[in-house]
Amino acid sequence: MCDKHQKPITASDTPGFYGIDRYGFPEAGEHPLDPAEYYPPYFWSERFQKLGYHVEELRGGFYWVTSGSYDAAFIVTEDGVIAIDAPPTLGENMLAAIEDVTDKPVTHVIYSHWHTDHIGASSVYGPNVEIVAHEITKELLERFPDPGRPLPTITFTKEYTLTVGGVTLELSYKGENHCPGNIFIYAPAQKVLTCIDIISPGSATFMHCDASQNITAWYEAQHQIMEYDFDYLVAGHHMKYGTPELVRESIEYFADILEGAQAAIDIYSRSDRLIDILLKPGLDRFWVGSENWINSMVNYATKHVLEKKTSNGKLWSERLAGVTSMTKYHAYTVMESIRLERPRPNYRLRGENAPPFLA
Ligand SMILES: [Zn+2]
Ligand SMILES: [Zn+2]
Repeated sequence: MCDKHQKPITASDTPGFYGIDRYGFPEAGEHPLDPAEYYPPYFWSERFQKLGYHVEELRGGFYWVTSGSYDAAFIVTEDGVIAIDAPPTLGENMLAAIEDVTDKPVTHVIYSHWHTDHIGASSVYGPNVEIVAHEITKELLERFPDPGRPLPTITFTKEYTLTVGGVTLELSYKGENHCPGNIFIYAPAQKVLTCIDIISPGSATFMHCDASQNITAWYEAQHQIMEYDFDYLVAGHHMKYGTPELVRESIEYFADILEGAQAAIDIYSRSDRLIDILLKPGLDRFWVGSENWINSMVNYATKHVLEKKTSNGKLWSERLAGVTSMTKYHAYTVMESIRLERPRPNYRLRGENAPPFLA
């Protein structure tokens, strides 16, 4: 291994790492602009700037609605409207979007998952709707009641087919990922998949893998999305809906983070490196040493991703929005998930002693 990682790497060694102006780290202007294609035409339209939402038919009565930060969907059937989610950032604009295209009432609501930032305005649909969700979602909403998130009236465990007015949706639960109870909602006739908070098309997504709980399963869900025959992905964030190409791009970015995080763990878990970093601040500053160790690994993984030439020859910051600001948080989370969730080699053998200061 080369020597340049021998010293404890501090925040300032990696541009953009834990940067806030007053500590002398990069100011906003030192980060690259988001790639222009991240912002779809609707975003600059007067209508969107005035109304605060955009609605667009993806295919065959399946509509996508976005606030520019959160998105949701609805499907117009012969017998009424099926709504998927109700983020508070859209709120009553969900109803406005539906009224833009149909006079039919909302008869069914599907909760993608229990998080309030995606379904917290569901009471806008009124009391006379069927609400479909995973049984775990119902359990969580019973435990932590919220008038904005009325309890589901129909729940399922593995699979559920919802047919309303000639439209069929296939709901599937493949286990926890972003959170327990997060489901896949597939419209086979329209080839539209809804799966929230796994992929953020065109961006690095929000910090810590979009605040996800089971990171290994969150990675698995990225590939489960690709197993569907879809042309459009309603993904929950931020500016745009997904396509298979955008999903593949996101998968590649997070694979690079995993690669960098694994390499960082391998390098910084060697005992000479570990002891050097932990002891540097002094034996009686164990937790400072611990933080240096974690920061060193995060910085290594972040640098790995920020400097990597990707599959099309570009840097990640030239392909996805938010890379220089969000990658470090993902690196931390992914690194911790490797340490907690993935098989761990090299356990201590009988008779092998811990370093003296850890004994
Ligand atoms: Zn969520
Ligand atoms: Zn989200």
